[in-house]
Amino acid sequence: MLAVRLHAPRDLRLSEEPDPVPRAGESLVRIDAMGICGSDLHWFLEGGIGPIQLARPIVPGHELGGTIAAGPRRGERGGHRARAAVRAMSIPAWRAG
Ligand SMILES: [Zn+2]
Repeated sequence: MLAVRLHAPRDLRLSEEPDPVPRAGESLVRIDAMGICGSDLHWFLEGGIGPIQLARPIVPGHELGGTIAAGPRRGERGGHRARAAVRAMSIPAWRAG
């Protein structure tokens, strides 16, 4: 899968990463859309928010909607509350293509 990671302020990189595998009790969510909020702008411009700063490259974004692609709830659509299941697979809608 393609993922966008923030490596440093104003340093977003698109790269190929292994497909995530959901653990017991998790579902895999295919991201259909993602918004950009003020928090994302702080991360992009400043590398964090106040005392919370980048310690390693992160996949930014937390306001999303998607379809559960694997797991017991496959086919359901969800939004913001699905974020625990997308810990490694966020693909922001603003990526090229
Ligand atoms: Zn937000």
